[in-house]
Amino acid sequence: MALIRVHDKTFTPYLTEKEIHEKLQQLAAQLNADYAGKRPLFIAVLNGSFMFASDLFKYLTIDAEICFIKLASYKGTKSTGHVITAIGLDTDITNRDVIILEDIIDTGKTLSQFLPQITNQQPASLKVAVLLHKPEATQFHVPIDYLCFSIPNKFVVGYGLDYDGLGRNIREIYQLYSD
Ligand code: 5GP
Ligand code: MG
Ligand code: MG
Repeated sequence: MALIRVHDKTFTPYLTEKEIHEKLQQLAAQLNADYAGKRPLFIAVLNGSFMFASDLFKYLTIDAEICFIKLASYKGTKSTGHVITAIGLDTDITNRDVIILEDIIDTGKTLSQFLPQITNQQPASLKVAVLLHKPEATQFHVPIDYLCFSIPNKFVVGYGLDYDGLGRNIREIYQLYSD
């Protein structure tokens, strides 16, 4: 894999499609075991999580439901720190086993603001599954129950994650290389 250009920046390969899918299969195996005999409700956070949610969901063998919400706090490569709910939750989660699917936890602001809205509705259980976590950038505590990759504090793109709307269709994950 070589350097790529997304919009006006250069990115270098970071995680291959194979590495991502191996982790997804491990995570799915764990979820299949932990939720055996149950009927969990996955809540995927749009936009960035659409590919993670879709690929993970295909590896599940248990009975499971999925719905989507849309939260946004990012513009360009910097968090605005302001979380907007653009599409709300339309599913009753009371007494459900809920698993939030999030593409990446950076500052933690998005999920730390959203999780109380979920706990307020009294799910039977609540877990958080995350594809990528930047521990060095995290300022707001988010309990992560399932994590695929812990990554350095560098902007990443691909596999559903965008840079100014572009790059979501890339099958691998790339890291910011230079401006
Ligand atoms: P947080 O609220 O944790 O700071 O950021 C959450 C959201 O910001 C993520 O769900 C994601 O959409 C976006 N984000 C954070 N870091 C990155 C990154 O490195 N690359 C991209 N493309 N989006 C990011
Ligand atoms: Mg996200
Ligand atoms: Mg984004």
